[in-house]
Amino acid sequence: MEIQSIGVVGAGQMGNGIAHVMALAGYDVLLNDISSEALENAVSLIERNLARQASRGKISDDEMRAAMGRIKTTLDLPDLGKTDLVVEAATEREETKHKIFAALLPHLQPHTILTSNTSSISITRLASGTDRPEKFMGFHFMNPVPVMQLVELIRGIATDQETYKTCLGVVERLGKTAASAEDFPAFIVNRILMPMINEAVYTLYEGVGNVNSIDQSMKLGANHPMGPLELADFIGLDTCLAIMNVLHDGLADTKYRPCPLLTKYVEAGWLGRKTGRGFYDYRGEVPVPTR
Ligand code: NAD
Repeated sequence: MEIQSIGVVGAGQMGNGIAHVMALAGYDVLLNDISSEALENAVSLIERNLARQASRGKISDDEMRAAMGRIKTTLDLPDLGKTDLVVEAATEREETKHKIFAALLPHLQPHTILTSNTSSISITRLASGTDRPEKFMGFHFMNPVPVMQLVELIRGIATDQETYKTCLGVVERLGKTAASAEDFPAFIVNRILMPMINEAVYTLYEGVGNVNSIDQSMKLGANHPMGPLELADFIGLDTCLAIMNVLHDGLADTKYRPCPLLTKYVEAGWLGRKTGRGFYDYRGEVPVPTR
């Protein structure tokens, strides 16, 4: 199936990155959020990020202008019914995602493919609440979307081959690489990454190390480009906690128990970079560890 227009629900850190790469690849993008501020911020961030790519010679000025011209925004979710493919990238809360799909359904064209960028929630369960589980898939981008090469494609139990092939075609047009994952909690990347981050928070909680020593150990000792706590702040601590809860509930194994310190940071609203404070405080010139 030929995809020309893409609807993106949620204009947060993932939604703006998805809109960016889709527009650059030539798709018409309609970006939706419940917050007009989020939409405005997303558009100016996309413009800045495209300008940075242009200044580094990765794209031309014409490509940048054309991509910006392909991005439209709307506060009205039903407007996305006109698109060929919807990527849902709203907050990692199952109820929110079900509500979004339920509100979209009456407005969709019969051929429209529905996807979710969820980091962990069951694709089969999200699909079963819609009228088209065979045209429903997990389309999981990595953060930051314009930089990261991988997209995990997750088939629900009912996803048909045409839907998979169409989504694979989109990933290829983006110049990215797809990894196929089965629909089990957190799929591949987060099934492995998130328990490591959670363990780093336990290491902090138990006083084995402080924020600096934990991050430095993993950067210099395991050659990770970012420390696990720095990475958690980058992902968003609410998203990390939500993924650990999905692993814990979905696999019923105590090894996935979210660290109480992670819960405490989320309860404080210290969600990482996006709120200015997490395991580091980003409000000054340089990030300062909070523990
Ligand atoms: P975020 O908090 O930056 O953005 C979420 C956006 O969704 C906000 O702008 C919010 O206003 C909007 N939103 C909430 N409810 C909505 C609704 N009903 N309709 C429309 N918009 C709504 O979150 P994020 O980091 O961009 O994560 C979004 C999704 O992407 C989550 O499912 C997350 O698991 C997934 N994801 C995140 C990462 C990451 O590193 N942060 C990586 C891969 C996938």
